[in-house]
Amino acid sequence: MDHKEKVIAQVKSEMPVKEKKNGVEITNPFEIVQKLMEDATKTLELPASFYEILKKPKRVLKTSIPVRMDSGEIKEFEGMRSQHIDVLGPAKGGIRFHPKVNEDEVKALSMWMSLKAGILGIPYGGGKGGIIVDPRELSERELEELSRGFIRELEPIIGPDKDIPAPDVNTTPEIMGWMLDEFSRLKGKNVPRVITGKPIILGGSEGRLEATGRGVVYTIEEAAKHLGLRLDGMTAVVQGFGNVGSITAKLLSEKGVKIIGITDAGGGVYHEQGLDIKELMEFAKKTGSVAGFKSYESLSNKELFSSECDILVPAALENQITAETGPTIKAKIVAEAANGPTDPEGNDAMEKNGVFVIPDILCNAGGVTVSYFEWVQNAMNLAWTEREVNDRLHNKMTVAFDDVYRMKQEKNAGMREAAYLVGVGRLAEAMIARGWIKDWSMPIECNA
Ligand code: GLU
Repeated sequence: MDHKEKVIAQVKSEMPVKEKKNGVEITNPFEIVQKLMEDATKTLELPASFYEILKKPKRVLKTSIPVRMDSGEIKEFEGMRSQHIDVLGPAKGGIRFHPKVNEDEVKALSMWMSLKAGILGIPYGGGKGGIIVDPRELSERELEELSRGFIRELEPIIGPDKDIPAPDVNTTPEIMGWMLDEFSRLKGKNVPRVITGKPIILGGSEGRLEATGRGVVYTIEEAAKHLGLRLDGMTAVVQGFGNVGSITAKLLSEKGVKIIGITDAGGGVYHEQGLDIKELMEFAKKTGSVAGFKSYESLSNKELFSSECDILVPAALENQITAETGPTIKAKIVAEAANGPTDPEGNDAMEKNGVFVIPDILCNAGGVTVSYFEWVQNAMNLAWTEREVNDRLHNKMTVAFDDVYRMKQEKNAGMREAAYLVGVGRLAEAMIARGWIKDWSMPIECNA
């Protein structure tokens, strides 16, 4: 064992088997991402100052957005935007509208965005925003006013070369259109590059709407190849039927995968012979949930996670695969379409059981990748065809998958740990190149 291997072995032996703080399992996503980043910096033998820079966002803006409701009263909504680190480029990441979104969650989400950019090799830092709101409770006019109001608050800190928002949970191209319009009005000129995921007529990219789901499917194909399996004839279950869950289900079913179960916030549906995803999409659009589709058997989240199937796709929110649900998983491949769906105990359980995990920061990075393509197209004032976009996305996702897989082999690590090593390693390279950190040379080849 040479010196480097000894250090890595020692660092590994010091890692707690389960991530606990004062005997309590860590479920705060901010603490989880900090711990995983810190572990990666140790394995890479980075100086402590590196983790000091990495461990928290550079800036978090918190603001209150007044909206005149249809009733005439003024209501204040709480909004926030976290910008993690700008070492690779301007901050980049979505804005989510959710009644439970909170500061620690948004901070963690911005840190995951930095890692995604590192893994995919795209020139961005991590950003993420949120407004505490249940958008279903607002009229369209109220929603538009809220979206525009948030952009007025963010205006000093966002911009095409500063921070570029995009859609996330419960935000749509239509909302991006209002946001772009508001920012452009404030600047007195059209600024399409400030927002991605916008409607195509305003400079949005072909293929952006489907990009996250498409990227998820590309990584599943790669995982299946490594396992020597064929997608055709496999079975899958999906948690979440928003943009990412529904597109992933649709694209998987087009590849011959039988989607046997889906759950969403309103309930779940199970059909062993396979669900017709196109019909289900129409149904869910009308009713707001997959529950009750064709009077098929209902399905709880607990049942979904423990289903007999080949592929499990968590495409909802954080902390779904836990000490409770993790050990019940029977799927061969878990594709993390959501951000942060797995807590450390859930990850341990899956690794112990030999589940092939495609970690979120690799699996769902197709969205931000096509956002990057959108930003590039806007800069060139031209539009690529959907085919061009998808081909480029395929290329980026498969290269990233290979980089992570190679790291996994080289370090005998889990897929998540490997993804963190690649992501953190690239941020480190950029910090060195900028002269932020001296006297350190990369012990592991991250520049594959
Ligand atoms: N919200 C997506 C994500 O979590 C996309 C972000 C973007 O396109 O900037 O990756």
